[in-house]
Amino acid sequence: MPTIPKEYKLNTGASIPTVGLGTWQARAENAVYEAVKTALKAGYRHIDTAFLYGNEAEVGRGIRDGLKETGLTRQDIFVTTKLAPIHARPSHVGKAFAQSLASLDIGYVDLYLLHWPVALNPATGQMFPLRPDGTRDLDTELDGQFELTWQAMEQLVGDSLKAIGVCNFSIPNLDRLLKVAKIIPAVNQIELHPYLPQFKLLDYCARHAIHVTAYSPLGSSNSPLLTDSTLQRIADHHHVSVPQVMISWGALRGSVIPKSVTPSRIESNFVLVDLTDDDVKAINEISNKHTQRIIRPPWGVPVFDEDF
Ligand code: NDP
Repeated sequence: MPTIPKEYKLNTGASIPTVGLGTWQARAENAVYEAVKTALKAGYRHIDTAFLYGNEAEVGRGIRDGLKETGLTRQDIFVTTKLAPIHARPSHVGKAFAQSLASLDIGYVDLYLLHWPVALNPATGQMFPLRPDGTRDLDTELDGQFELTWQAMEQLVGDSLKAIGVCNFSIPNLDRLLKVAKIIPAVNQIELHPYLPQFKLLDYCARHAIHVTAYSPLGSSNSPLLTDSTLQRIADHHHVSVPQVMISWGALRGSVIPKSVTPSRIESNFVLVDLTDDDVKAINEISNKHTQRIIRPPWGVPVFDEDF
């Protein structure tokens, strides 16, 4: 029976706690603040946010108060935030990180991720490239030149930032990045769940000592996975919920950051189940019948492995 580790080692030597709290689409007043505190009380030691989620200040306030209320220290937890595409050009990287650090106000950031391998035109102020007519407004000068952004991110690592990494990097884009990187990304945060297990990308990352974090591990909002019959069968067998099965399966492969603002879900999502080898095999085989990528913003440039 496979065992779920409590944390994974990064190529920096630091550890990343296996289950973290996601905070995308958790913007309602106080919702994310309360969610972060509930999570810390339930045992979570890893919180994931991003400039793009518009909630870094609320997340930071939840962390500060959560630490006080639980008696934990800053060193007990791991906090990730991300560089938005609108700031993904070398001249903006330092300022963008300083802004996230100030909004969070928790002393330092454990991990700063390049959110997408895409650069948007900062002059438009638009967070996403879609114009009403469906055309896009990418940074024509820098779009796709994420190597330059990465080199600027490398300069940030120090007292205020412990590690850097990427999100949504495909194998071809990682190949490009590794050609110039002085710092190997500590993490690649990607969409991972039973309908998108990404076996090849996981193998690639393992070979290059890049830790993988699973985002949208439940299939995001209105997830089709919640009613999957194989997952339901395994959940019934163990007397747990389908999300607990998905998080436990994900936690055997890397770290996992389910999002919830519902206290009972935050708590139950942290309770993992010992899956058998047969359970794991059955979950691994789900994608033979059903494959689905759920998060696909209309960037207009090749991003995912299947786009190349
Ligand atoms: P998840 O797969 O975590 O699913 C979140 C949804 O599932 C919410 O609607 C939540 O509802 C619901 N939910 C949570 N727990 C349960 C449960 N036990 N039973 C039923 N429903 C449940 O989706 P996300 O897309 O939010 O991904 C997780 C995190 O990953 C994000 O929040 C973000 O931090 C990160 N992420 C990163 C991306 C990147 O590009 N790097 C892209 C996408 C996500 P409710 O909150 O109402 O309880």
